Amino acid sequence: MYPRIVVNTEKYRHNVRNLKEILAKIDVQLIPVTKVYTGWPELVQIAYEEGITTVADSRMENLERITAPVKKLMLRLPMLSEIERVVQGADQALVSELATIMAIDEAAQKLDKDFEMVLMIDLGDLREGVLERQFDDFIQNLPTLKRAKFAGVGTNLTCFGGILPSQENLSVLINAHQKFQEHLGYELPVISGGNSSSLPLVAQGKLPQEITNLRVGEGIVLGSFSDYTGDLDGFVEGVFTLEAELIEVREKPSLPWGEVGLDAFGEVPTHTDRGMMLRGICAVGRQDVLGQHLRPQQPVEIIGGSSDHMLIDLKYGNYKVGDVLSFDLNYVAILELMTSQFVEKVTR
Ligand SMILES: *Cc1c(COP(=O)(O)O)cnc(C)c1O
Repeated sequence: MYPRIVVNTEKYRHNVRNLKEILAKIDVQLIPVTKVYTGWPELVQIAYEEGITTVADSRMENLERITAPVKKLMLRLPMLSEIERVVQGADQALVSELATIMAIDEAAQKLDKDFEMVLMIDLGDLREGVLERQFDDFIQNLPTLKRAKFAGVGTNLTCFGGILPSQENLSVLINAHQKFQEHLGYELPVISGGNSSSLPLVAQGKLPQEITNLRVGEGIVLGSFSDYTGDLDGFVEGVFTLEAELIEVREKPSLPWGEVGLDAFGEVPTHTDRGMMLRGICAVGRQDVLGQHLRPQQPVEIIGGSSDHMLIDLKYGNYKVGDVLSFDLNYVAILELMTSQFVEKVTR
């Protein structure tokens, strides 16, 4: 069935193993992040086979699909309305709010279940976390917990503000860990130093040695780190591929004719005259993925699309109806395609 997203499980395995080994050399635990592939159980099983003991996801629906016997870290700050579900279905959560922490402690008592929390510190990216200058107040106001425990502190960067991790901002995290540990009077084993954007620091040998784990999604599934291009060796690209089928192949002009109105998305379309072309239509559309997130593997060019159609300049290649085109994907494309119920998901 097409369209389909195909995952090369050996490439995925290779990238998990490679990154796990690189991080093991500096005593950093790899926590694979599974949200981009919606917690696909087969892939988590592979990570488990490679010795991974904890995985992380931002949605409970994804964590609940996972069957491998790994610890589950809930990445998105839990909603107050889902606390019992989180405590039941996960083992750890990132937190930043007093009300959430107290609700988690109550749920852990009620369910009689161990549960750990990682207190997030905002180092300037301005998404989740307590600010450095709010930190002292925050820990002074923490009530004594009855059942849930803190495992440590963490941070997340380069997600909203685009702020890169550095030795300077990570030192704030390390200081917070020290203070928090003294305040609580028990050892906090975790200093979670960010996501894929921390990998360039690893490549440069600059990740502070106090960091105990990194939560990595993009780095594993793409085998590269988008703009940050860390110089870590040994990754492979092409873990995920989109395959879509041609439903029309016709020679047509490049310029539409008639009076110009709006396109299917309410925009005024612009077209350049490139003369006649062999135009293909693939049965996949903007409901599934945006064309700008795809790169054709064949020497063809994506011209545009509507909800259910993708238009391709086939460059007079030798194509016929029923042929399948393949596309390399960026992070957003994988997320979109994995989330579309109209796209089949297969392993190879
Ligand atoms: C998504 C996410 C990650 C993983 O980010 P990548 O850039 O895919 O490595 C890590 N931590 C948190 C809190 C996240 O939301």
